[in-house]
Amino acid sequence: MFQKILIANRGEIALRVLRACKELGIQTVVVHSTADADAMHVRLADESVCIGPPPSRDSYLNIHQIVAACEITGADAVHPGYGFLSENAKFADILAAHNITFIGPSGDHIRIMGDKIEAKRTAKRLGIPVVPGSDGAVTEEKEARRIAADIGYPVIIKASAGGGGRGMKVARSEADLVVALQTARSEAGAAFGDDAVYIEKYLEKPRHIEVQVFGDGAGRGVHFGERDCSLQRRHQKVWEEAPSPALNAEERAHIGGVCARAIADLGYSGAGTIEFLYENGEFYFIEMNTRLQVEHPVTEAITGIDLVHEQIRVASGGGLSMRQEEIRFQGHAIECRINAEDPRTFTPSPGTITHFHTPGGLGIRVDSGVYSGYKIPPYYDSLIGKLIVHGRNRVECMMRLRRALDEFVVDGIKTTLPLFRDLVGNPDIANGEYDIHWLENYLADED
Ligand code: ADP
Repeated sequence: MFQKILIANRGEIALRVLRACKELGIQTVVVHSTADADAMHVRLADESVCIGPPPSRDSYLNIHQIVAACEITGADAVHPGYGFLSENAKFADILAAHNITFIGPSGDHIRIMGDKIEAKRTAKRLGIPVVPGSDGAVTEEKEARRIAADIGYPVIIKASAGGGGRGMKVARSEADLVVALQTARSEAGAAFGDDAVYIEKYLEKPRHIEVQVFGDGAGRGVHFGERDCSLQRRHQKVWEEAPSPALNAEERAHIGGVCARAIADLGYSGAGTIEFLYENGEFYFIEMNTRLQVEHPVTEAITGIDLVHEQIRVASGGGLSMRQEEIRFQGHAIECRINAEDPRTFTPSPGTITHFHTPGGLGIRVDSGVYSGYKIPPYYDSLIGKLIVHGRNRVECMMRLRRALDEFVVDGIKTTLPLFRDLVGNPDIANGEYDIHWLENYLADED
């Protein structure tokens, strides 16, 4: 097992990983920018190293400084959290070259999944259902027209190097297609330095359902069921739940089994998430994230398994701690992402939190790095905490969530808490009847 883990992140996820390390009796080192000197993860870690000024590229994305911090402190492993360097294959390779363990998959697996065309090709080869579309990159208009006519309109053109919901264009007819292809290519080239685009069928009203998987790197794979993350704004997840209100036990076992076998065949190591669009009872692979996800606590709530413990165990060569049959699903869990943002306009609201009071009681978990008197720096994302609620069933979970939201107090800044108080009382949400467009339509109607 590792002696000392360096946590290359900030905010709630740095604290989340720190807690797991403490429970496992592993020493912790955190790195931070000058803007985060007062952050909770810095206060609670055994050691901390300031790695640079506020902008992420000079601190949390500065590979050289992070490797130096490992060498100075003698850390033998790095947990990257999510975001920042968590899906940076070069970072994983550099750590390996320094004999420091990257708590995550191999650089090669990160690379495959970071290239969407390659990821889709790999998924297909592993028996995962994919969205019908082009086999690879499309450059010629003629070819684009043929493929689109084949799969039928509407189609979506996506950047192979895309991410964060950028670089996508929908074409509803052949007349749209030529323009969409050109704009998608030039936008992808400008944004990602790679103008490769591909075409797939555009699904009109899908849900976003993702499967949590784990591999031991030696041919074993398991799944931890799914999460429904259909409630999104600008492709950013807002509310996540497990299990999905749309799936039955048979569908869950089926898609879970497909994903677990794929992970085993790939020889994948550590945590991963296979993301699907789900429509009319069919799953369509869109991408795989090769890291821990923001919304992992809903899976932890319904399985009772600490996924960060598991990541650390697998990375240290200890293998998976359980067999598939030992993973049992109990009850229902919902996560609300609480952002320091205006709940109507979603503009960031940095500043000082004058008062912070979190709800408690059975089935409540709050993951947050903030506290009363904490000043939110303007340089990073606006997530200030996650409220995760568990109940024996979805109805109990929703009642508990409503109660927890009433107790939650954040003063001094604006937060998205009022949005969740609205959502929890909405009949569509109560019935679990929503797709990936539901939230945007709801917000548009409110205006
Ligand atoms: P990114 O890596 O940029 O997040 P994804 O491939 O995960 O890109 O897609 C982001 C979002 O775009 C999806 O959650 C979905 O809302 C939409 N999307 C992607 N592909 C399709 C598709 N074939 N049909 C309909 N919507 C899609």
